[in-house]
Amino acid sequence: MTELATTPAEEQAGVTRISHWIGGRVVAGRSGRSGPVYNPATGRQTGAVDFATVEEVDEAVQAAKAAFPEWRAVSLAKRAELFFRIRELVHERREEIARILVSEHGKVLSDALGEVTRGLEVIEYCCGIPSLLKSEYSEQASTGIDVYSIRQPLGVVAGITPFNFPAMVPMWMWAPAIACGNTFVLKPSEKDPSASLWTAELLQEAGLPDGVFNVVMGDKVAVDAVLEHPDIAAVSFVGSTPIARYVYEKATANGKRCQALGGAKNHMIVLPDADIEMAADAAVSAAYGSAGERCMAVSLVVAVGDVAEPLIEAIKERIPRVKVGDGMDPASEMGPLVTKEHRDRVASYVEAAPAEGATVVVDGREGVPEQGFFLNPTLLDNVTPGMRAYADEIFGPVLGITRVATYEEAVRLVNENPYGNGTAIFTRDGGVARRFQFEVQAGMVGINVPIPVPVAYYSFGGWKASLFGDRHIYGPEGIDFYTRGKVVTSRWPDPATSKVDLGFPQTR
Ligand code: NAD
Repeated sequence: MTELATTPAEEQAGVTRISHWIGGRVVAGRSGRSGPVYNPATGRQTGAVDFATVEEVDEAVQAAKAAFPEWRAVSLAKRAELFFRIRELVHERREEIARILVSEHGKVLSDALGEVTRGLEVIEYCCGIPSLLKSEYSEQASTGIDVYSIRQPLGVVAGITPFNFPAMVPMWMWAPAIACGNTFVLKPSEKDPSASLWTAELLQEAGLPDGVFNVVMGDKVAVDAVLEHPDIAAVSFVGSTPIARYVYEKATANGKRCQALGGAKNHMIVLPDADIEMAADAAVSAAYGSAGERCMAVSLVVAVGDVAEPLIEAIKERIPRVKVGDGMDPASEMGPLVTKEHRDRVASYVEAAPAEGATVVVDGREGVPEQGFFLNPTLLDNVTPGMRAYADEIFGPVLGITRVATYEEAVRLVNENPYGNGTAIFTRDGGVARRFQFEVQAGMVGINVPIPVPVAYYSFGGWKASLFGDRHIYGPEGIDFYTRGKVVTSRWPDPATSKVDLGFPQTR
């Protein structure tokens, strides 16, 4: 962490200052505290992001609070129209935002475009906000009395997001929150914050009133200020499990609604009857895509019975063909890790593996480019419960193979794991697949699908230590999270007002 945001030396070195977005404009931070932002492919510092004070977080919340009464009164027709404009703008400029993601996160361009596309799905879902907020009506519940339910926005809501999806995960939050009539304060990851400012400018251009979407940059100080702020009604969090637990406990202790999505250790079970080639393609794609920095990455393949040998051979064959390089190079399939510390932490699992009893089949520390935060795809065999490589979410391009004798043993491993985000089974046996779906303890299940991220009209969320709170994110549960119900019981005297109007009835 640097003492001053963009020192003269940093300016000379081409380091950009990245500041807050409050009330419709960029607001330079005043704390004197900032963090470095790197281009992970070169290792060079490209930015210095301001870290907000408690007062600066309050300014953002006050801007959101001031914007709320007018925003919640905007008709559903106009909100839908605005979301169609947002959708068009993001779609037109997806290449622009994808390049920002590559330059600060390190993922390859095709993967960054994929991130934007999956985020766009959520924006598209929100174009249907008039339908999504339809409620119930009971006529003549009692004589002359009708009863109906409505869903109303909560007020100011906040989102705290991780580094690994700097555009998509914020979209999971701000899109449904704002479509439901709330105003929003985003605290993005300090590692790759620029996507949030890009989003703020795009939303303004689309016509979103100032103050409806705000961004405060920062670290724990900003997060705590959000969690303690009396004017924030709800907090959505996505990040690692220890912080998710902390955020959930603190937010709810302060009377806020909270959904806090945490980390993962996703097991992919391969049964002896599986299509080996398909399973190997899936394992390699899901373990090494985005350099393993996905909460839905497959980090363990559980090989059942005699499938282990042919499967490991098929995975080993594919690894040298994965093109690792700068994400801007269209030939690259896997980029670097986000920071040097993270790369070194991931590499430490490879270092420790043999002493723990695992076998290093492919060592990704070999042959990495000199500059940047690269680690090549790594394969560990004989990974067993109790080892660090089994227990921890490594969050890098390290795939472990765990060998078991039976399907029952494989399921027990998944169910005994403290995480419950995603899991997958590869088999040709429909009966076993159905049994797996019935008994496995995870929030998102793939059958011959390695990364079962739900489409936008379902909701995303894990079980156990992968989610604290009652509501999954986006989709119907997202709409539910960002609104609260009200039931009205009503009786009317005879209507006395009426007029003739031959115009075609219109919304607005
Ligand atoms: P992280 O938990 O370090 O950070 C997430 C957010 O919390 C950031 O905005 C960060 O500034 C803030 N934060 C960090 N330390 C804090 C502290 N001590 N007190 C208060 N706030 C703090 O996570 P990350 O490294 O940015 O992201 C990777 C993690 O996110 C992985 O564990 C991954 O599985 C998880 N993740 C989960 C999902 C999901 O949907 N379940 C999706 C994406 C990422």
